[in-house]
Amino acid sequence: MNQTKDIGNLCTDCHRDTSFGSGLFVNRIPSGTETEVGYLCPECQQHECDRCNELIGCDEDIYLEETFERVHEECAREKELVELRRLKEEEDYESAKFWGEVEEDQS
Ligand SMILES: [Zn+2]
Ligand SMILES: [Zn+2]
Repeated sequence: MNQTKDIGNLCTDCHRDTSFGSGLFVNRIPSGTETEVGYLCPECQQHECDRCNELIGCDEDIYLEETFERVHEECAREKELVELRRLKEEEDYESAKFWGEVEEDQS
């Protein structure tokens, strides 16, 4: 039987302590692997840019669904950013409609 171990405040990737006061607490996220349950520290959540190979900071990564690339905003092409913005607007509109925040266009 597969037993997962609860490692509490430790990062499931680097095994550093992410508890309050450790400096890794703020942006940690709950995380589980096949063997351990704990948290993922902010540094282990970072991805490498697929175009320049530098690390991308939290919340600064852009995922390009068409090419399956994760890149910096400045590494994305203008065309791709425009498309992303369009998708985001569509999504926002759909969710606003879902929550009844906008009237459906009757025309
Ligand atoms: Zn970590
Ligand atoms: Zn980059």
